[in-house]
Amino acid sequence: MPDIIQLLPDNIANQIAAGEVIQRPASAVKELLENAVDAEATEIRLFVNDAGKSLVQVIDNGKGMSETDARMCFERHATSKIKKIEDLFHIRTMGFRGEALASIAAVAQVELKSKRAEDETGTYLEIDNSVVRKQEIIACPTGTSISMKNLFFNVPARRNFLKSAAAEMRHIVEEFIRVALSFPNIFFSLTSNGQQLFHLERGSLKQRIIQLLGNHYNARLVSVQENTDYLNIYGFVGKPETAKKTRGDQYLFVNNRFIRSAYLNHAVMSAYQEMIPADSFPLYALFIDLDPEQVDVNVHPTKQEIKFEDEKIVYAFVQAAIKHALAQFSITPTLDFDLDPSIQNLDAVSKPVSDEQKASIAASSLYQSFTQKNQAHFIESGNAGLKPWNIPKGRLDGNTDQRLPGAGITANKEESLPFHTGNSQPLSFGNIQLIEEAPLTQAANTYIIAATNRGFILIHQQLAHERILYERLIGASADKPAAIQKSLFPVTLQLSAPDAALLQELIGELLLLGYLVEPFGKDSFVIQGTPADIDQGKEKEIIENLLEQFKHFSNELKLSKREKLARSLCRQQSVKPGTPLTSEEMNNLASGLFQCAQPNTTPAGNPTFIEFKKEYLDQLFRKLT
Ligand code: ADP
Ligand code: MG
Repeated sequence: MPDIIQLLPDNIANQIAAGEVIQRPASAVKELLENAVDAEATEIRLFVNDAGKSLVQVIDNGKGMSETDARMCFERHATSKIKKIEDLFHIRTMGFRGEALASIAAVAQVELKSKRAEDETGTYLEIDNSVVRKQEIIACPTGTSISMKNLFFNVPARRNFLKSAAAEMRHIVEEFIRVALSFPNIFFSLTSNGQQLFHLERGSLKQRIIQLLGNHYNARLVSVQENTDYLNIYGFVGKPETAKKTRGDQYLFVNNRFIRSAYLNHAVMSAYQEMIPADSFPLYALFIDLDPEQVDVNVHPTKQEIKFEDEKIVYAFVQAAIKHALAQFSITPTLDFDLDPSIQNLDAVSKPVSDEQKASIAASSLYQSFTQKNQAHFIESGNAGLKPWNIPKGRLDGNTDQRLPGAGITANKEESLPFHTGNSQPLSFGNIQLIEEAPLTQAANTYIIAATNRGFILIHQQLAHERILYERLIGASADKPAAIQKSLFPVTLQLSAPDAALLQELIGELLLLGYLVEPFGKDSFVIQGTPADIDQGKEKEIIENLLEQFKHFSNELKLSKREKLARSLCRQQSVKPGTPLTSEEMNNLASGLFQCAQPNTTPAGNPTFIEFKKEYLDQLFRKLT
């Protein structure tokens, strides 16, 4: 028998290897853009035709290549970025495996033009199927232009695997966004079939995010910035109200490299818990920088998956940093400046973090605990320092003397006027402190104006009340059922069959929340008792409304039964806009809100109040004079 093992010819070996690196036009986009970044270009232009199937071209003004390097760069394992294995652990460039251009040349027709600044002339090369077809000396600008034409022209099977033009184009735009986001100091453009889709001037990260992801994020981004000896994190997260029903604008970069990490994604999402519905996704564009020795980027050919030396520290750090940022900024929604473009340019809006704010971050226990090397773990357990409010809970759960039936905020006649809680601590949330001597004012029978240490806040009476009721309900149902008031004249309820089935399902949960409902024959129920603070006589209406609300939530949210019920009840029992409030009621509402664990948002994540800071108001008036 003859021997049967043969070495594969280079072009076939390259084609096989290319399968790992170049799966679709977007993979070439990524590699070519990254090469241009590594070449220190300040302007990078991407052109595609037919969603990259017929052309992907990247033109950069980077350092270019010598004639020999231009030939060399298409060899497999040809790289200028590492020389020995130790270099792998100090990688500062995007590429290092020396495979991208070899792979591209194996599966497409490639044209290269490149010139270094110090050279008079440049090099022109044509390669396909890993073979050089033409090489010339040409005149061209400094930098490099690489065109990849007719991807997979020589591997029809793989060409057939490509998706529709629309799908491939989405992948391309996604890769483009990832690279363009990480380098806001580089100009990028993207032109598709002759039409320019993106033209991104150099600027700040915030400007880049808005250019790429949309102007609606303006004034809805919260700056994240924490520095420690071990790692730094910076970037932006969306305020809770930016959360969308579809996963999308979520970007995580480690040492400027886009990565996928379900684990770290979870860290970010967990920082939002309770502020947004469970199945919605806030924007984030976060950059983690750490010593390259602490990460292994070499675990995947496209380098989208990486390994951390200590993943738990990174998790705890990311989670704490986002929580902290949200507590500091988003939590106190400021004016929606989208209304007036001239206001968007104010410093207060375009500079998300003031020095004063920075100083307060630096003084925080979170910051300090992280600046000691490797201390991240202890934050995770305690969440110490993340609750910026001072008043112990308690006044609103359990039977306090300040609630009358229904609204849950009405006061006993004897209750004194100032909304001081009897506690020596001021009512505050984050850096906002209510001025307790200042009287509250109701506007439009909907809003409550409350003076604060740095301006005023406008509280939405219904939304604030929803939050107060919600925390009380959740508190009640979690450790002990709410107190039930037995009805003197139990009301009977006749329902449609589907509603009856629904109510039947909810009876147990309702009991925890203070509603004693019993089945009474076919599709009928008797309401035997209601929570102690509910108006007697309205039981029927309340249960009917509750079912309606519940159905409404069932459609849009995948929440637990109790969560849905609690939210339905709060929405239903809250004081509605248009209801005039007495000063006791306003006081109770404001103090009740500021004693909540999460006063800034409704259970569904909408803001309960908006802060108007003195600086903003000053700016507004300065515009006019
Ligand atoms: P890697 O980026 O992993 O080094 P590539 O195959 O992507 O491997 O590129 C091989 C080499 O070609 C690079 O190391 C670099 O020296 C050179 N090169 C590629 N693209 C460019 C460019 N746009 N400008 C200058 N040099 C480039
Ligand atoms: Mg490369």
